[in-house]
Amino acid sequence: MSDAPFGHGKVGRMEFLLALRQRGISDPAVLRAMDAVPRERFVGFPSRPQAYADQALPIACGQTISQPYVVAYMSEQLRLKPQHRVLEIGTGSGYQAAVLSRLAREVVSIERFRTLADDARKRLTALGCDNVEVLVGDGMQGWPERAPFDRIIVTAAAEQIPPALADQLADDGIMVLPLGPQAGTQHIVRVTKTDQGLQEERLIAVRFVPLLPGTAREL
Ligand code: SAH
Repeated sequence: MSDAPFGHGKVGRMEFLLALRQRGISDPAVLRAMDAVPRERFVGFPSRPQAYADQALPIACGQTISQPYVVAYMSEQLRLKPQHRVLEIGTGSGYQAAVLSRLAREVVSIERFRTLADDARKRLTALGCDNVEVLVGDGMQGWPERAPFDRIIVTAAAEQIPPALADQLADDGIMVLPLGPQAGTQHIVRVTKTDQGLQEERLIAVRFVPLLPGTAREL
């Protein structure tokens, strides 16, 4: 996504929002949420000057915080309503969860690295996102005790829709996730649960870190 109309280095918050609009993000609630969440708080200190550039950035445990455009795009495609309960798989820095917290009633976010989950929880608490719960576990299994969820977002790429997540999606629920091979092209797919089964719509091409089974072993 090198055609992004962001400059290099320090990019102001005004340009950040303008660029999201220019790339087609139009839902006012999503734009407000993107405006309200300080991305610089979710990236490592060395990456702060790039915090408002439209690029993924490294975080701990070899993972990445997604590109702002993709965060906004996936949030928009979820078609969130304020009363919704959302499940996120792949907490990472907690940035996407913070954006979701402003668009939905409740967010449950699962991360397989305890270090990332602990750091994300601290940031979210410091920012007052008190409707987000961060759990350590294998997100491929979802969290059956809390199901069903009105919306599910997966922020790591799988080859197929994890069956447990499809089971935990409410009727008429929407799941947005990147699907595709690790080495090849992945697409954001919107899955809608209908009476006739799951309907899938393929959206934009993306690159995500892989969705891996199990919890991570950490030293
Ligand atoms: N949403 C994040 C970006 C996360 S990158 C943000 O806004 O910063 C993807 C994350 O998914 C990584 O942190 C990775 O550890 C996590 N992940 C991968 N497979 C997982 C699984 N099975 N369960 C939970 N988390 C997983």
